[in-house]
Amino acid sequence: MAITKRTFDVVVVGAGGAGMRAALTLSHAGLKVAVLSKVFPTRSHTVAAQGGIAASLGNVNEDNWLWHMYDTVKGSDYLGDQDAIEYMCRAAPEVVYELEHFGMPFDRLDSGKIYQRPFGGHMQDYGKNPVPRACAAADRTGHALLHTLYQQNVKANTNFFVEWMALDLIRDQDGDVQGVVAMEIETSEVMILQARATLFATGGAGRIFSASTNAYINTGDGLGMAARAGIPLEDMEFYQFHPTGVHGAGVLITEGVRGEGGYLVNKDGERFMPRYAPTAKDLASRDVVSRAMATEIKEGRGCGPHGDHVLLKLDHLGDEVIRHRLPGIRDIALKFAHVDPSKAPIPVVPTAHYMMGGIPTNYHGQVVAPQGTGPDVVVQGFYAVGECACVSVHGANRLGCNSLLDLIVFGRSAARQIIEDLKANPNHKPLPADAAERPLSRLARLEEQKNGERVADVGDAMRKVMQKHCGVFRFPDLLAEGVAQIREVAERVKTTEIKDKSKVFNIARVEALELDNLIEVAQATMTAAEARKESRGAHAREDFPDRDDKNWLKHSLYFSEDRRLDYKPVRLKPLTVDTFPLKARVY
Ligand SMILES: Cc1cc2nc3c(=O)[nH]c(=O)nc-3n(C[C@H](O)[C@H](O)[C@H](O)COP(=O)(O)OP(=O)(O)OC[C@H]3O[C@@H](n4cnc5c(N)ncnc54)[C@H](O)[C@@H]3O)c2cc1C
Repeated sequence: MAITKRTFDVVVVGAGGAGMRAALTLSHAGLKVAVLSKVFPTRSHTVAAQGGIAASLGNVNEDNWLWHMYDTVKGSDYLGDQDAIEYMCRAAPEVVYELEHFGMPFDRLDSGKIYQRPFGGHMQDYGKNPVPRACAAADRTGHALLHTLYQQNVKANTNFFVEWMALDLIRDQDGDVQGVVAMEIETSEVMILQARATLFATGGAGRIFSASTNAYINTGDGLGMAARAGIPLEDMEFYQFHPTGVHGAGVLITEGVRGEGGYLVNKDGERFMPRYAPTAKDLASRDVVSRAMATEIKEGRGCGPHGDHVLLKLDHLGDEVIRHRLPGIRDIALKFAHVDPSKAPIPVVPTAHYMMGGIPTNYHGQVVAPQGTGPDVVVQGFYAVGECACVSVHGANRLGCNSLLDLIVFGRSAARQIIEDLKANPNHKPLPADAAERPLSRLARLEEQKNGERVADVGDAMRKVMQKHCGVFRFPDLLAEGVAQIREVAERVKTTEIKDKSKVFNIARVEALELDNLIEVAQATMTAAEARKESRGAHAREDFPDRDDKNWLKHSLYFSEDRRLDYKPVRLKPLTVDTFPLKARVY
């Protein structure tokens, strides 16, 4: 079958904050850039980010980037690479001012400066007191950010392929990446997008869990495509559970609520966080707060008839503050929890939220993969940024507001690297003859499959296994069973059938293709979690409750083809400052 081919300098897969920030610099440089997105760009999950973007502007209280760096290293439970963390925290004020100049409508202080609020784990003076570091546009920061970047990209003539789904990477015999094969969702037309540089910015994979704050489109497509092309996935055992998802609905209530003065209570009305984190209290790091909540619930102090949640109290902030600073939260509380937060507390539970792991990259956004036993090598032509990438700045646990920052800092640095790399590489390589073979055979299988299981049923089975076996606390027997069960689900994925083959909206076909990606992520997460015999950051094992730096201060790498794990050292040396030495993590 002849497939249409289009040629670009750069193909960016993903139109969230990461993809759009990169595309903007690339288009400004005069490159021919295609940005693909499964949904209209401004519907990418970045639009849902509420709380803010972290930068040590010091607009409210004194702050500096070294304190931000310290908090990020500590927040990562020392698994973050300190070179990348230094790069990010140093660049933060500059990239936020750049956003301001692109027209992002931040809230303002009376002084006219950008409004900043406290957020979990962001402290003054190396961990002493919470500091307002989250730059915010009410509780709709991601919305403001994404619309600003979209408008700037339109102005810069970026080419958008809206409702196009990338299916697989094109990787040639030298291991170089030459673009993607993609499908237009409306028509099922398949096309080759050839490029000298391919950048993945496909976001997270929260949909491997049943209860998640993530959008339905967050299906780990970039990771699935990378894994199928032989690239390992890094640190997949680390999945963040956000403390405050609305009980029963999963919708997120930003940490900004606690930043504005809200706090958690158990069924006795006790504010319990000071028992777990005497200094930071409700603004401790997310893994710490989620575990405290899970412990309260486990020990019988949960609220409601089933004792299965706790309450987030903010009525004392007053109706005016709530309406002005947290209008979106007020809406969510009314619609999803049926409470008016100025009168009654919101029922909340820890909910799957953010993937710390991803496609391994350096701080220039270049994908790095191990080659045999030698040092890591850069995969030519391939870059990744945002939640799908593992730089790694978040290590074992991400601090709130550091993701939007990660998107903007590394979106820009990857674009700059691509511009340099393309100068040295002015021509497209000839495409391999089998460039589209893998995705075409996946599509053909879906057309031909008879008597298979429904995609939705197999997807539900996967989500249930992940939810039960790989949650806030992890138990040895559940993990071992989880590995076996997720492999069984992976076998079932190979024979799913799309019952509705009509192409109206094409939902069934898209969901089947997404499940191929989700199951790669789920297997990587479960396998790496079972193997890591320690507790660090978001990975909390009941049988190994302590961090074990002697044996486990290392990044995991999961190889899909033989489900093998390997490990590589953490980069403890920053770029210019001294290493932050390992310490016990208390808040
Ligand atoms: C509810 C919520 C609130 C949050 N609040 C904050 C916050 O306040 N501060 C903070 O720092 N972080 C926050 N986060 C985290 C942060 O928003 C995300 O990590 C970040 O926005 C991810 O951005 P991204 O650009 O990597 O991906 P996304 O914004 O998820 O975009 C992914 C893009 O990839 C496209 N895509 C995916 N697969 C394909 C494919 N196969 N083909 C074509 N296109 C594809 C999608 O269409 C989309 O355009 C929040 C997250 C959630 C879920």
